[in-house]
Amino acid sequence: MPELPEVETIARGLEPLVLNKKISRVSLNYPKIISGDPQIFQKEILDRSIVKVWRRAKLLILDLAGSFHLVFHLKMSGKVWVPPQGECPDKHTHIVFCMNNGESIFFQDQRKFGYCVLLDSNSLNSWKFFAGLGPEPLHLCLNDFAEIFRARKGRIKSLLLDQRNIAGIGNIYADEALFMAGIHPRTPGCELKPKDYKILYQSLKEVLVRAIEAGGSSFRNYRNALGYSGMFQEKFLVYGKKGQSCPRCRTVIETCKVAGRTSCVCPTCQKVNQEAGHE
Ligand SMILES: [Zn+2]
Repeated sequence: MPELPEVETIARGLEPLVLNKKISRVSLNYPKIISGDPQIFQKEILDRSIVKVWRRAKLLILDLAGSFHLVFHLKMSGKVWVPPQGECPDKHTHIVFCMNNGESIFFQDQRKFGYCVLLDSNSLNSWKFFAGLGPEPLHLCLNDFAEIFRARKGRIKSLLLDQRNIAGIGNIYADEALFMAGIHPRTPGCELKPKDYKILYQSLKEVLVRAIEAGGSSFRNYRNALGYSGMFQEKFLVYGKKGQSCPRCRTVIETCKVAGRTSCVCPTCQKVNQEAGHE
Protein backbone atom coordinates (compact mmCIF):
# COMPACT_ATOMS: atom_id res chain seq x y z
CA MET A 1 0.00 0.00 0.00
CA PRO A 2 1.34 3.46 -0.81
CA GLU A 3 2.32 5.10 2.46
CA LEU A 4 3.12 8.70 3.38
CA PRO A 5 6.21 9.10 1.10
CA GLU A 6 4.49 7.58 -1.92
CA VAL A 7 1.32 9.65 -1.61
CA GLU A 8 3.40 12.76 -0.89
CA THR A 9 5.40 12.09 -4.06
CA ILE A 10 2.21 11.74 -6.09
CA ALA A 11 0.79 14.97 -4.65
CA ARG A 12 3.99 16.92 -5.34
CA GLY A 13 4.28 15.54 -8.86
CA LEU A 14 0.63 15.99 -9.69
CA GLU A 15 0.20 19.58 -8.55
CA PRO A 16 2.20 21.31 -11.32
CA LEU A 17 0.43 19.18 -13.94
CA VAL A 18 -3.10 19.97 -12.84
CA LEU A 19 -3.04 23.27 -10.95
CA ASN A 20 -5.58 25.81 -12.20
CA LYS A 21 -6.81 23.39 -14.86
CA LYS A 22 -10.54 23.05 -15.15
CA ILE A 23 -12.19 19.63 -15.25
CA SER A 24 -14.17 19.61 -18.47
CA ARG A 25 -15.40 16.00 -18.54
CA VAL A 26 -15.57 13.05 -16.15
CA SER A 27 -15.83 9.46 -17.40
CA LEU A 28 -16.82 7.11 -14.65
CA ASN A 29 -16.09 3.65 -15.97
CA TYR A 30 -16.59 1.81 -12.70
CA PRO A 31 -19.10 3.76 -10.60
CA LYS A 32 -18.57 1.57 -7.52
CA ILE A 33 -15.12 3.12 -7.06
CA ILE A 34 -16.76 6.32 -5.80
CA SER A 35 -18.83 6.71 -2.68
CA GLY A 36 -22.07 8.48 -3.45
CA ASP A 37 -24.29 9.09 -6.45
CA PRO A 38 -22.39 8.90 -9.77
CA GLN A 39 -24.53 11.56 -11.43
CA ILE A 40 -24.11 14.05 -8.60
CA PHE A 41 -20.38 13.25 -8.53
CA GLN A 42 -19.98 14.03 -12.22
CA LYS A 43 -22.19 17.10 -12.13
CA GLU A 44 -20.53 18.66 -9.07
CA ILE A 45 -17.00 18.26 -10.45
CA LEU A 46 -17.70 19.63 -13.89
CA ASP A 47 -16.17 23.00 -14.73
CA ARG A 48 -14.39 23.30 -11.41
CA SER A 49 -10.72 24.26 -11.36
CA ILE A 50 -8.16 22.33 -9.35
CA VAL A 51 -6.75 24.81 -6.86
CA LYS A 52 -4.46 22.66 -4.69
CA VAL A 53 -3.09 19.13 -4.44
CA TRP A 54 -2.10 17.81 -1.05
CA ARG A 55 -1.83 14.80 1.18
CA ARG A 56 -3.22 13.96 4.60
CA ALA A 57 -2.08 10.61 6.03
CA LYS A 58 -2.34 8.24 3.04
CA LEU A 59 -5.09 10.26 1.37
CA LEU A 60 -4.46 12.23 -1.81
CA ILE A 61 -6.65 15.32 -1.96
CA LEU A 62 -7.40 17.59 -4.92
CA ASP A 63 -9.04 20.81 -3.79
CA LEU A 64 -11.53 22.15 -6.31
CA ALA A 65 -12.81 25.70 -6.62
CA GLY A 66 -15.86 26.35 -4.46
CA SER A 67 -14.53 24.43 -1.43
CA PHE A 68 -14.91 20.94 -2.83
CA HIS A 69 -12.38 18.17 -2.27
CA LEU A 70 -11.72 15.17 -4.45
CA VAL A 71 -10.29 12.61 -2.04
CA PHE A 72 -8.52 9.42 -3.13
CA HIS A 73 -7.51 6.50 -0.98
CA LEU A 74 -5.18 4.38 -3.08
CA LYS A 75 -5.25 1.36 -0.75
CA MET A 76 -3.34 -1.59 -2.28
CA SER A 77 -2.93 -0.70 -5.92
CA GLY A 78 -4.53 2.66 -6.71
CA LYS A 79 -2.79 5.10 -9.04
CA VAL A 80 -3.61 8.72 -9.80
CA TRP A 81 -1.56 10.07 -12.65
CA VAL A 82 -1.47 12.17 -15.79
CA PRO A 83 -0.65 9.84 -18.69
CA PRO A 84 1.12 10.98 -21.85
CA GLN A 85 -1.32 12.52 -24.31
CA GLY A 86 -3.08 9.95 -26.42
CA GLU A 87 -2.78 7.16 -23.83
CA CYS A 88 -5.99 5.13 -23.79
CA PRO A 89 -7.59 4.14 -20.49
CA ASP A 90 -7.12 0.41 -19.78
CA LYS A 91 -9.62 -1.87 -18.03
CA HIS A 92 -8.28 -0.80 -14.63
CA THR A 93 -8.87 2.90 -15.34
CA HIS A 94 -12.02 3.56 -13.33
CA ILE A 95 -12.24 7.33 -13.65
CA VAL A 96 -10.89 9.72 -16.31
CA PHE A 97 -10.96 13.41 -15.45
CA CYS A 98 -10.42 15.38 -18.67
CA MET A 99 -8.91 18.81 -18.16
CA ASN A 100 -9.39 21.91 -20.30
CA ASN A 101 -5.76 21.74 -21.52
CA GLY A 102 -6.50 18.45 -23.31
CA GLU A 103 -4.74 16.31 -20.71
CA SER A 104 -6.41 13.87 -18.35
CA ILE A 105 -6.04 12.49 -14.86
CA PHE A 106 -6.49 8.72 -14.63
CA PHE A 107 -7.57 6.92 -11.51
CA GLN A 108 -6.55 3.31 -11.97
CA ASP A 109 -6.84 0.50 -9.46
CA GLN A 110 -6.21 -3.08 -10.40
CA ARG A 111 -7.52 -4.56 -7.16
CA LYS A 112 -10.35 -2.07 -6.66
CA PHE A 113 -9.78 -1.61 -2.92
CA GLY A 114 -9.18 2.10 -3.41
CA TYR A 115 -11.87 4.72 -3.64
CA CYS A 116 -12.58 8.30 -4.62
CA VAL A 117 -15.03 10.55 -2.85
CA LEU A 118 -16.14 14.13 -3.50
CA LEU A 119 -16.82 16.16 -0.37
CA ASP A 120 -17.46 19.77 0.45
CA SER A 121 -15.33 21.26 3.23
CA ASN A 122 -17.89 20.64 5.98
CA SER A 123 -18.33 17.01 5.00
CA LEU A 124 -14.58 16.50 4.77
CA ASN A 125 -13.97 17.90 8.23
CA SER A 126 -16.84 15.99 9.78
CA TRP A 127 -15.92 12.71 8.06
CA LYS A 128 -15.18 10.44 11.02
CA PHE A 129 -12.16 8.77 9.43
CA PHE A 130 -10.62 12.09 8.40
CA ALA A 131 -11.35 13.87 11.66
CA GLY A 132 -9.91 10.93 13.61
CA LEU A 133 -6.52 10.88 11.89
CA GLY A 134 -3.52 11.35 14.14
CA PRO A 135 -0.88 14.03 13.62
CA GLU A 136 1.47 14.08 10.64
CA PRO A 137 4.83 12.63 11.70
CA LEU A 138 6.83 15.26 9.82
CA HIS A 139 5.06 18.06 11.70
CA LEU A 140 5.31 16.60 15.15
CA CYS A 141 7.68 17.57 17.96
CA LEU A 142 9.52 14.94 20.00
CA ASN A 143 7.47 15.53 23.10
CA ASP A 144 4.12 15.09 21.32
CA PHE A 145 5.51 12.02 19.58
CA ALA A 146 6.54 10.41 22.87
CA GLU A 147 3.18 11.33 24.38
CA ILE A 148 1.40 9.10 21.85
CA PHE A 149 3.13 6.00 23.19
CA ARG A 150 4.02 6.80 26.78
CA ALA A 151 0.96 5.34 28.47
CA ARG A 152 0.12 2.67 25.91
CA LYS A 153 0.52 -1.04 26.51
CA GLY A 154 0.06 -1.88 22.84
CA ARG A 155 3.04 -3.05 20.84
CA ILE A 156 5.00 -0.22 19.32
CA LYS A 157 4.50 -1.44 15.77
CA SER A 158 0.71 -1.71 16.19
CA LEU A 159 0.66 1.77 17.69
CA LEU A 160 2.65 3.16 14.76
CA LEU A 161 0.34 1.56 12.20
CA ASP A 162 -2.83 2.86 13.83
CA GLN A 163 -3.72 5.95 11.77
CA ARG A 164 -5.54 7.46 14.75
CA ASN A 165 -2.24 7.70 16.66
CA ILE A 166 0.01 8.95 13.92
CA ALA A 167 -0.83 9.38 10.25
CA GLY A 168 0.64 7.86 7.11
CA ILE A 169 2.83 5.06 8.48
CA GLY A 170 2.43 1.57 7.06
CA ASN A 171 4.34 -1.69 7.21
CA ILE A 172 7.40 -0.56 5.23
CA TYR A 173 8.31 2.59 7.13
CA ALA A 174 7.35 1.16 10.53
CA ASP A 175 9.77 -1.75 9.99
CA GLU A 176 12.54 0.46 8.67
CA ALA A 177 12.24 3.03 11.47
CA LEU A 178 12.09 0.39 14.21
CA PHE A 179 15.19 -1.29 12.82
CA MET A 180 17.06 2.02 12.61
CA ALA A 181 16.10 2.72 16.21
CA GLY A 182 17.07 -0.79 17.40
CA ILE A 183 13.59 -1.37 18.82
CA HIS A 184 11.73 -4.67 18.52
CA PRO A 185 8.25 -4.21 17.02
CA ARG A 186 6.67 -6.19 19.87
CA THR A 187 7.91 -3.83 22.57
CA PRO A 188 4.98 -2.26 24.43
CA GLY A 189 4.84 1.50 23.81
CA CYS A 190 4.93 2.28 27.52
CA GLU A 191 8.14 0.29 28.03
CA LEU A 192 10.25 2.46 25.77
CA LYS A 193 12.76 4.69 27.51
CA PRO A 194 13.04 8.44 26.77
CA LYS A 195 16.12 7.72 24.64
CA ASP A 196 14.09 5.15 22.64
CA TYR A 197 11.35 7.68 21.85
CA LYS A 198 14.01 10.10 20.72
CA ILE A 199 15.81 7.69 18.44
CA LEU A 200 12.55 6.30 17.04
CA TYR A 201 11.31 9.82 16.38
CA GLN A 202 14.53 10.71 14.57
CA SER A 203 14.59 7.41 12.65
CA LEU A 204 11.01 7.75 11.50
CA LYS A 205 11.53 11.29 10.28
CA GLU A 206 14.76 10.36 8.57
CA VAL A 207 13.33 7.38 6.73
CA LEU A 208 10.24 9.33 5.60
CA VAL A 209 12.28 12.30 4.36
CA ARG A 210 14.77 10.08 2.55
CA ALA A 211 11.95 8.07 0.97
CA ILE A 212 10.24 11.25 -0.27
CA GLU A 213 13.57 12.41 -1.73
CA ALA A 214 13.87 9.06 -3.54
CA GLY A 215 10.34 9.42 -4.96
CA GLY A 216 8.86 6.74 -2.69
CA SER A 217 9.20 2.98 -2.84
CA SER A 218 7.95 1.04 -5.81
CA PHE A 219 6.84 -2.14 -4.25
CA ARG A 220 4.24 -3.96 -6.31
CA ASN A 221 2.74 -1.32 -8.56
CA TYR A 222 3.13 2.13 -7.06
CA ARG A 223 3.90 4.80 -9.65
CA ASN A 224 4.19 8.57 -9.33
CA ALA A 225 2.07 11.21 -11.06
CA LEU A 226 3.90 10.69 -14.36
CA GLY A 227 3.82 6.90 -14.16
CA TYR A 228 7.43 6.43 -13.04
CA SER A 229 8.69 4.18 -10.23
CA GLY A 230 10.23 5.41 -6.99
CA MET A 231 13.71 4.33 -5.94
CA PHE A 232 13.56 3.94 -2.18
CA GLN A 233 13.02 0.15 -2.34
CA GLU A 234 16.73 -0.04 -3.23
CA LYS A 235 17.52 1.45 0.18
CA PHE A 236 15.46 -0.86 2.40
CA LEU A 237 17.46 -2.10 5.38
CA VAL A 238 15.17 -4.88 6.59
CA TYR A 239 11.78 -4.63 4.90
CA GLY A 240 11.24 -7.61 2.58
CA LYS A 241 14.71 -8.97 3.46
CA LYS A 242 13.88 -12.11 5.42
CA GLY A 243 16.79 -14.58 5.22
CA GLN A 244 19.28 -11.90 4.17
CA SER A 245 21.92 -10.59 6.52
CA CYS A 246 21.44 -7.50 8.68
CA PRO A 247 23.26 -4.52 7.14
CA ARG A 248 24.55 -3.59 10.59
CA CYS A 249 25.62 -6.88 12.26
CA ARG A 250 25.21 -9.62 9.60
CA THR A 251 22.71 -11.64 11.68
CA VAL A 252 20.04 -13.26 9.48
CA ILE A 253 16.89 -11.13 9.30
CA GLU A 254 13.78 -12.86 10.59
CA THR A 255 10.08 -12.17 10.46
CA CYS A 256 7.47 -12.11 13.18
CA LYS A 257 3.79 -11.21 13.25
CA VAL A 258 2.67 -8.08 15.01
CA ALA A 259 -0.91 -6.85 14.68
CA GLY A 260 -1.45 -9.46 12.00
CA ARG A 261 1.29 -7.96 9.83
CA THR A 262 4.60 -9.55 8.95
CA SER A 263 7.48 -7.60 10.42
CA CYS A 264 11.11 -7.94 9.40
CA VAL A 265 13.53 -7.72 12.32
CA CYS A 266 17.16 -8.29 13.14
CA PRO A 267 17.10 -10.45 16.29
CA THR A 268 20.45 -9.02 17.38
CA CYS A 269 19.91 -5.30 16.73
CA GLN A 270 16.28 -5.35 17.88
CA LYS A 271 16.19 -7.21 21.19
CA VAL A 272 12.86 -8.45 22.50
CA ASN A 273 12.42 -7.84 26.17
CA GLN A 274 11.19 -10.84 28.19
CA GLU A 275 7.58 -9.78 28.59
CA ALA A 276 7.19 -8.64 25.03
CA GLY A 277 8.40 -11.93 23.56
CA HIS A 278 5.01 -13.60 23.31
CA GLU A 279 2.21 -12.59 21.01
ZN1 LIG B 1 21.60 -6.59 13.18
